[in-house]
Amino acid sequence: MTAILTPAPPLPADEVLLGGEWKPGRGEVLTPTDPATGRALGTIHAASVEQVDEAVRRGIAAAHDAGWRGLLPHERARYLTRVAALIDRDADSLAALQTANTGKTLAETRALVSSAAGTFRYVAAALETLEEAVTPSRGAYLTMTAHEPIGVVGAITPWNSPIASEAQKLAPALAAGNAVILKPAEWTPLIALALGRLVEEAGLPPGLLSVLPGRGSVIGESIVRHPLVGKVSFTGGTATGRAIGRIAADKIMPVTLELGGKSPTIVFADADIEHALAGVMFGIFSSSGQSCIAGSRLFVQRPVYDGFVAQLVARTRRLRVGPGTDPTTQVAPLVSTAHRDRVARYVDLARSEGARVLCGGTAPDGPEFADGAYYLPTVLAGLDNQARTCQEEIFGPVVVVLPFDTEDDLVAGANDTAYGLACGIWSQDYKRIWRVAHAIDAGTVWVNTYKQFSASTPFSGAKESGLGTEKGREGIRSYTRQKSIYLGLNDTPLPWANP
Ligand code: NAD
Repeated sequence: MTAILTPAPPLPADEVLLGGEWKPGRGEVLTPTDPATGRALGTIHAASVEQVDEAVRRGIAAAHDAGWRGLLPHERARYLTRVAALIDRDADSLAALQTANTGKTLAETRALVSSAAGTFRYVAAALETLEEAVTPSRGAYLTMTAHEPIGVVGAITPWNSPIASEAQKLAPALAAGNAVILKPAEWTPLIALALGRLVEEAGLPPGLLSVLPGRGSVIGESIVRHPLVGKVSFTGGTATGRAIGRIAADKIMPVTLELGGKSPTIVFADADIEHALAGVMFGIFSSSGQSCIAGSRLFVQRPVYDGFVAQLVARTRRLRVGPGTDPTTQVAPLVSTAHRDRVARYVDLARSEGARVLCGGTAPDGPEFADGAYYLPTVLAGLDNQARTCQEEIFGPVVVVLPFDTEDDLVAGANDTAYGLACGIWSQDYKRIWRVAHAIDAGTVWVNTYKQFSASTPFSGAKESGLGTEKGREGIRSYTRQKSIYLGLNDTPLPWANP
């Protein structure tokens, strides 16, 4: 590994965006850290609970202002297009900031930044072409469905794909005419603050966006509980999503929950093995496995099991582990040493459950890794699908391999999990692909490919992986309230009162 020391990119100022104004945060001190070196990047003051209330009140006023509410879709779209152009302009510095704060490779953070710009651009285009429906009438009236803004939306994001997650919520929520209170994860607040500066620079009417870093249990929860917040869009762990869902139930408030996963990737004996190996490795080890859709349970059909697993292990051993700033790195550090230690505890648990560790299973050796949150890509075998390691989300570079015999066994095993986020199928038999793709409980099924995304394709989770849809036109609609309008066309009064 070549140690590449790049200067830390400039940090955003230690201020939070409070409904159109940059102000010192009145909450606790957060210390974003570079996971490759363990060095603090600086300090940022979180927002306080009082600042959440102020942001929501400013948001309500801004969302109801005719200057925003009265804008036609193509006029609102212009702001989003400008944000996209500003993200493109600052792509290099945003990617460097994101790599410094998350440890991810620059190749990945550049892709995330580009995806964020693409999301703003797609949502702007979709907004200009969204149509309301005129429904068939059953009398002397015209009926139409209108979609109206909700008011203030809380957007709560995790640390694993900042800027892309933020854009996925901000762009459609603003497009739909709302104000947004954005709360990034406590480990990775920097990119959301930088994005806030760009949205402001795009000339968005003041008050529509607040960016309030802080702890989930303090700032996140106070956003969810605030009586004037009309919807929460959350991406994160299932336990947190469940807690948010309970509060939402009390408020009768809509929520979008994008939660965890334990996604099966399935290799049938007739698969193109080279394609399958490349896809399986990308599916679990890219982003160091810190991906909700990571293919963390690998099912391989018995006739090719031994050969496939031997190749997988040999190639996994060759993956290059190193800092995200080294262009040759494939597996970068995890987001923090605390998270790395959590992953390591899961591998210890797997050992105690009887797993064979075929490769990895430890942090890499060497002084260059000593201060970073590194963990070797790990392949585990010999477990039953009921083992905790096969059922719980590890969120690291750890895959469990399981053999299967028949299609029925496979479907039963793959679905035997609380989650239902994604699935990968590697086969050349299109009839079987069709059957299995429908039989697996998952919001997204990739066939002979994995972890590909399009801003225009809806994304959602089944079972405990989530509720509601992001992306696509449905993603914009999810930030609206539906209203039916009946326009009377009678030439005479309604008959009931005038018999
Ligand atoms: P997390 O649930 O701990 O935190 C996510 C966000 O919620 C953070 O901003 C956090 O501060 C906030 N939060 C925590 N407690 C809260 C509370 N009580 N009230 C309100 N907000 C609260 O998740 P994480 O560790 O940041 O992210 C990893 C998880 O996210 C994994 O489970 C992963 O699968 C999931 N994820 C899902 C998707 C998806 O689209 N389905 C995408 C990315 C990540």
